[in-house]
Amino acid sequence: MAVDITTDLNKVRNIGIMAHIDAGKTTTTERILFYTGITYKIGEVHEGAATMDWMEQEQERGITITSAATTCWWKNHQINIIDTPGHVDFTAEVERSLRVLDGAVAVFDGVAGVEPQTMTVWRQANKYSVPRMCFVNKLDRTGADFFRCVNMMVERLNSTPLVLQLPIGAEHDFLGVVDLVQMRALTWRGETTMGEDYTIEEIPADLQAQADEYREKLLETLAEADDDIMEKYLEGEDLSVDEIEAAIRRATLADKLNPVLCGTAFKNKGVQPLLDAVVKYLPSPLDIDAIVGHKVNDEDVKVERKPADDQPFSGLAYKIASDPHLGKLIYVRVYSGKLEAGATVLNSVTGRKERIGKVYQMHANKREEIASVGAGQIVAVMGLKDTKTGHTLCDINNPVVLESMSFPAPVIEVA
Ligand code: GDP
Repeated sequence: MAVDITTDLNKVRNIGIMAHIDAGKTTTTERILFYTGITYKIGEVHEGAATMDWMEQEQERGITITSAATTCWWKNHQINIIDTPGHVDFTAEVERSLRVLDGAVAVFDGVAGVEPQTMTVWRQANKYSVPRMCFVNKLDRTGADFFRCVNMMVERLNSTPLVLQLPIGAEHDFLGVVDLVQMRALTWRGETTMGEDYTIEEIPADLQAQADEYREKLLETLAEADDDIMEKYLEGEDLSVDEIEAAIRRATLADKLNPVLCGTAFKNKGVQPLLDAVVKYLPSPLDIDAIVGHKVNDEDVKVERKPADDQPFSGLAYKIASDPHLGKLIYVRVYSGKLEAGATVLNSVTGRKERIGKVYQMHANKREEIASVGAGQIVAVMGLKDTKTGHTLCDINNPVVLESMSFPAPVIEVA
């Protein structure tokens, strides 16, 4: 049965995962889907296992993440993972997906560090001031070096990394992380357990000095980005975990710095703290400025649409995909109002009316048919005949053209 999806927008995260090819984007995404499987529907613990089986099947067939937007849940938050292609050839496609996500996780190979495709996508994300976190992956590999990777983020990306974790051990003996916000150690329990798969311990004595040093760096970097923290820092006041986390969130949303976490997706170490950080630090659709479009036939008259259900409907078609069972699916980000199955809307670019067929939310191992969906959400729509990527769909009586994207020529970079 089709359901209505109206969610507390504060609890929605539309995120992309960006990486140079082979850094571990697919593995990280799969681990996220595995871990979030357990909370997919409270009480349906088997969902997690089903996700895993599905992933194995997909891997056998050589297919990776199938959907342009996959919805999952973590600690009462809905996370929509938007697929961002990692190849430079897909620059226009990357730009299109950057346009519809609210925040991103950049995955780095702990051995190779910052690689050319990451530099390209990073620069594109700069253009839209996309709030970003970094996950230094593959710390189990020989030659992995967390600190070198962080330095490369400064040198090659010109970013301001905010180191939130320090690795405990290295390579084969990568055992966990020091959490510099709460000043505690997280050590991994196993590779397949779901739920919170780490044990909280005291910081190991031999890492205490390094933890103190990096905690100080964290506070300094945060103070530079945030006046509240600066004031308290200069006065030598103690900062609570809540205050620090709130400041990290503010600074991340303002695109002033990038929180950095680490782990190994392969061995399933570090993915849950990463999910916690996605929920804590990346924006909800309400944190994003209202989208500004323009009047049909008059680019000079700006029209603003806020992410609220009582606004007229507007949405951007950002990807066309072919589903083996459903046929043509168009992925739409709803910016304002409600998108309803069966409704007639206007494609303000072609000037023609379009009838919305069935509407789906896509999950790792199944899809859910929905009757209507609110602002801030991303769904797959069937039945659109004449709509292409980049087109605006909107309320017939309240037409708007959402700002068109400019696609620069692809930049091919050499390391
Ligand atoms: P993508 O191209 O960024 O999507 O990268 P994949 O997720 O496909 O990973 C590329 C290769 O690296 C695969 O063989 C993975 O099994 C492997 N891999 C991914 N994450 C890790 C990790 O944390 N440690 C190790 N040792 N290998 C990893």
